[in-house]
Amino acid sequence: MDELCENCRYYLAVQTNYKEDGTCRFAPPTISLISEQAMGIWPKVKNTDWCGQFSPKRKQKKS
Ligand code: SF4
Repeated sequence: MDELCENCRYYLAVQTNYKEDGTCRFAPPTISLISEQAMGIWPKVKNTDWCGQFSPKRKQKKS
């Protein structure tokens, strides 16, 4: 398995009309002060990105 975001347990896919990218949920959201209304955001990543915190997705148990 390639150690890419798409295979990482911290990756949350976000489907758009063009492609599938996602956000990294390794850490709590950070506060964005771009707008007047503060809001929490997670880092946006591409499914082909990677980093040193990679952890493989857990296998789902069959019920
Ligand atoms: S940035 Fe790192 S921790 Fe986050 S989803 Fe990608 S590989 Fe996983």
